[in-house]
Amino acid sequence: MTATLRWILPFLCFALLWASAARSVELTPEERALTEEGQVIEVAVMYDFVPFSFVEGGTHKGFVADLLRLIEQKTGVTLKARIGEWGDNLNRLRQRQIDAIADISFKPERTSFTLYTTPYYEIPTAVFTDKRFGEYRNLADLSGKHVGVLRDIFYLRELSRHEDIRISTYDDYEQLTHALAFGEIDAAIQNLTSGYYYVTQNAYTNVKLAGEFTLETVGREDLRFGVRVDRPAIQSLLQKGLDSITPAEWQQLKDRWISMATGRMTDQHSTIELTMEEREFVKNNPVIRVHNESNFEPYSFYENDQPQGHSIDFMRLLAQKAGLKVRFVSERSWHDYLQMMRSGQLDVMTNIVYSDQRAEYMLFTAPYLRLAQGIYRRQGTPAIDSLEQLQNSTLALPKGFFTYDQLSSDEKFSVLPARDSLESLMMVSTGEADATIEIMSVAEHLLQKYAVPGVTGANPHQLIASEPLSLRLAVNQNKPLLRQILQKAMDSLSEQEKRQLQFKWTGNGAENSQYLHLTGNELAWLESRAAIRVCTTRNRLPYEQTTDQGDHFGAFADLLDIIRHNAGISVRLVPVNHFREALQTLNNGGCDLISRAPPGLELPYLSLSQPLLDSTLVIATGLDEIYVNDFSQLHTRTLAVMEGSHVQVFLERHHPELNLRLYPDASNAMDAVASGQAFGLIDTLPAISRMIVSRHRTDIKISGELVPDYPAVLATRQEDAMLLQIMNKAIQSISAEQFETVSNQWLQAPVLAEPPDYRLITQAAVATSLLVALILIWNRKLSKLNARIRESRNQLVEAHEELKMKNRMLEQLSTTDRLTRLKNRLHLERVFEQQLLIAEQVEAYSFSLLLIDIDYFKRINDRFGHHRGDAVLIDFAAVLKGTSREQDIIARWGGEEFMLVCPDTRLGDAVAHAQTLLYAIQQHRFAEVGYCTASIGVASWEPGDTYQSLCRRADQALYEAKRTGRNRVCQQPAHEGG
Ligand code: GH3
Ligand code: MG
Ligand code: MG
Repeated sequence: MTATLRWILPFLCFALLWASAARSVELTPEERALTEEGQVIEVAVMYDFVPFSFVEGGTHKGFVADLLRLIEQKTGVTLKARIGEWGDNLNRLRQRQIDAIADISFKPERTSFTLYTTPYYEIPTAVFTDKRFGEYRNLADLSGKHVGVLRDIFYLRELSRHEDIRISTYDDYEQLTHALAFGEIDAAIQNLTSGYYYVTQNAYTNVKLAGEFTLETVGREDLRFGVRVDRPAIQSLLQKGLDSITPAEWQQLKDRWISMATGRMTDQHSTIELTMEEREFVKNNPVIRVHNESNFEPYSFYENDQPQGHSIDFMRLLAQKAGLKVRFVSERSWHDYLQMMRSGQLDVMTNIVYSDQRAEYMLFTAPYLRLAQGIYRRQGTPAIDSLEQLQNSTLALPKGFFTYDQLSSDEKFSVLPARDSLESLMMVSTGEADATIEIMSVAEHLLQKYAVPGVTGANPHQLIASEPLSLRLAVNQNKPLLRQILQKAMDSLSEQEKRQLQFKWTGNGAENSQYLHLTGNELAWLESRAAIRVCTTRNRLPYEQTTDQGDHFGAFADLLDIIRHNAGISVRLVPVNHFREALQTLNNGGCDLISRAPPGLELPYLSLSQPLLDSTLVIATGLDEIYVNDFSQLHTRTLAVMEGSHVQVFLERHHPELNLRLYPDASNAMDAVASGQAFGLIDTLPAISRMIVSRHRTDIKISGELVPDYPAVLATRQEDAMLLQIMNKAIQSISAEQFETVSNQWLQAPVLAEPPDYRLITQAAVATSLLVALILIWNRKLSKLNARIRESRNQLVEAHEELKMKNRMLEQLSTTDRLTRLKNRLHLERVFEQQLLIAEQVEAYSFSLLLIDIDYFKRINDRFGHHRGDAVLIDFAAVLKGTSREQDIIARWGGEEFMLVCPDTRLGDAVAHAQTLLYAIQQHRFAEVGYCTASIGVASWEPGDTYQSLCRRADQALYEAKRTGRNRVCQQPAHEGG
C-alpha cells in the first residue's frame, strides 16, 4: 500500500498541477471539435530515441511522452502515441495514415506533406570519436576517416558528397555507438543526447565527444511536431498546447529527461574569456598537475585505474573552460601532496581547507563546497559530545589534513596519523584508535563501500574540531595567474552546472534523495558566520527541549541535526523560555533563528520559513464537555494557554475576542481545566497529547480541532534573507523518510504506562480520541504531497527570479555605454529628472553639469587609427571616474564628449572640480598616443531651468572654451531668464 502510494503520489501531484493549469487555452471551433469525446489524435513516435521517445518495460517514455501528456492537460485533446521506426513513421505521415509525428526536424522538402509546429527542443549534432582522436573543428578533420551515421539521417546526402570521407550507416543509435566503441569506425555523428546516453549507459570509456558537428545545412537538430498537411487544426492545436507551457514546466521536463544526462557535455564548448596575460600563461603551461586522492570518496578517489569523483570532474570542467589540460597525480598521501606543492611538483590541490600556515606556500581560491563533519567512533563506546571526551580519546586522522594540523599541534589531544580517510576509519574499526573526525558524506561513502565493521557515526557535534569545512582549490604559489584563471572559471560556472556535478556524485538518484545545493552567495554568507544562533525553547516537548548544558531533544532537535548535516551549517543554541522571549532575543540580535513561530505572523522585522512540520491547534477540556470545533463556541469562556508561547501570540492576533488566561506551567494549566477554572486548554495536538499522556491526566480530554492548519515554521530577521533562503532549501532537503522517522519518534501518542484498572475505561477513551486525531492530522503521507507541491512552487519562484535577474541585466545594458562602460544618455535623462525634481522642491538646492570634450580627437583617430581612438576613450573614461566623487554621475554624452552631473553642487564648486579634472587629464599618459587635453563647459541649475536650457548653457560654455584656445574650463553665460 505504502509502496503504491509512493508511486501514485508524484503523478497525483503532477495531475493536480496540470489540472490547475488545464484548459487555459482558447480554442477555435475547429480545434475544439478535436477535443470532443471519442476524438483521438494519433502521433507517431520513435521507440529508440533516448531520452526523447523510447520504449521501456512495454511503455512509451521520455521527454515526448511527458510532453504529450502535458499538451493533453492543457488543451483537453486526447493524444495517442503510435510507436514505430522513424522511416516508417515518416512514410505514414506522407501517406496521411497518421495525424502527426514527433521529433521531426524542419526540412524544406518535407513541407509538401508536413505542417510544423515550432521546435520544442534543439539538439546539437555531435561528433563522437575515440579518445585518441584530436579535436573536431570542422569537416576537414574527418577527411580520410571512417564515419558512421544513422541510416536515413537528413544530412547523409550532403555528407556523402565528400569523397574523402568513408561513410557507414547504422540502423539505430545503439549500434552506431557500439561500432565506434569497438573500433569499426573512427567517428560517429549523432545527436548529442542519444550519443551521450549510449556512451554512459554502456560505460564506453574510450569514447569522447570531439565537438559539435557543423555542416552548412546542419544547425542544431530541431525537434518539432509535424502534422499531416490536410489537418491544419491539429497543427494549431498542438502549437497552442506548446505555447501554453510555462518556463517552469519546460524546465521540469528538461531537468527530468535531459539536463542531468547531458549537461556536462553540452557545456563543453563554453569557455571563459581570458586576458592576454592569462592566455599567455595557458599557452606556456597547457597542462596542469592536480592531486587525486586514493580514498576520499565521493570527492576524489582512484578506482579502475582512473581518477574519479566530484573534484575530478570539477577540475576537468574548470580546465576545459580555461583551455587547460589536467594531469592527475594519483595515489600519494596527503602529506606527500603538500610536499609536492612546496617543491613545485604539483600545481593544484582540490578539497583543501584554508589555513594561515598553508597560505604561506599556497594560494587559495574562494570555497566551492561546504561540508559537515561528524565524529566516528567504535560501536558500543559512548558518544563523544564534549571537548573533554574528545581530548580523552585517541583520534586517527589523515596526516596533514586540516583537522590533523589543528589537533596534533595541541598537546591536549592524542592524534595518530593515518594515510588517508579510509585508513583512519579502519583504525577506529580495529581498535587502534577510538575515533576519527571526517566529512560526513565521505565517511558514509567509505563505511558503506568497504563495509567497515564496528564504526558508528554521529550527527555533527558542535565541537570546534568538527565544524563544517569550506573546501577550496589551492594553487602553487609561483602561479598566481593560474589561481586567477581557475577562480575565473569557477565564477563562470552556472548554478545548473554546479548542481549537476554535485548531483552526480552525492545525490543518490532515489526518489527521496536528500539533496541540497547552495549557491555561491549562500556559501559565502555561511562562510561569513561562525555559527547560526538558534533560539530554542527550554520546555516544549515533543517539539523540543533544551537544557542549559546545550542538550537538545525533540522533533525539532532531530530535524535541526538533519538540516545541519545537509546544509553544512554550524549551530549554536540559545535556550529561551518561550516564544516571546525568543522574539525579543532575535530582535535585539541575540539569535538569528527561532525554532518555532506561529504561522502567518506578520511583523515588520520578521520573516517566516516555509512549513517545517504540519500541525494543528486543538482544545482540551473536562471530560463532560461536548465536541468543540469552532472559536465562536468559546467567546464567553476562559481559556488556558501556555504563557509566552507561539500559541498565545497566535490567538491574540487572530482571535482577540478570546478571554485567555496564561499559565507558565502545563500541570497548572491542566489543573485549571480539570477544576473548571478554565474551560479548556489550547495548544498544538502533539503538545497536548504529550501533556495528557505523560502526566496520566484522565480528567481532561481533547475535544476538538480549532485550527486545522497550524504548521511549525522557523523565523529569521527580515534582513537575513540569505539565511531564510538557506533554511528553506534545507527544509526541502529533508526526505520523507526522515520526516516519518522524526514523527514516529516524537509526534505519535506515547504508549500509556500500565494504568490502574479502575481508570482503564477513561484511559481508553482518552487514547481513542488521541488516536483518531493523530490519524487525522499527523499523516506524513499528506506532507509528502505537500513537499512536492512546494518543490514545484519553488521552481516557479526560481524561474521568476531568473526573469527578474535578466530584466535587471537588460536594464543595466540599456543604460550602459558599450565602449566605455559608463552610463549613457538614457540614464542621464533619468538622473536629470530626479535632480530637477529635487531642485524644484528643496530650497537652495542646486546641481551642476560639466560637459567635457576631448580636444582635437579627430587627429588621434587619423594618426593612430580608430582602434587606438577607442582605447583613448576607454582610458579617458577611467580618468574621469578615478577623479570624480562618489555621488557624481558620469556618462558618455556621445562621440568624444562626456557629461558629469554633480548633485547638490553650486557653480563655484563645480568649476573647481572641472579644474581638477582638467589637471588629471593633462597628467595622464595615454598608451601609444601620449598626452591629450580636453575642454569643459560648466553650468548650474537655476530656478526655471529645464533639461534643455541647462544643457544648452553647458554647451555654450564648452563652445566658449574651445573658441578661446581649448584645454580650459568656461562657465555658463548669464542666465537668459534673468
Ligand atoms: P575639437 O573637439 O577640439 O574641436 O576637435 P575634435 O577633433 O575633437 O572635434 P570633432 O568633434 O569634430 O571630432 C570628434 C571626432 O571623434 C570625430 C569622430 O570620428 C570621433 N569619434 C566619435 N566617436 C568615436 C568613437 O566611438 N571612437 C573613435 N575612435 N572615434 C570617435
Ligand atoms: Mg566633439
Ligand atoms: Mg573634440
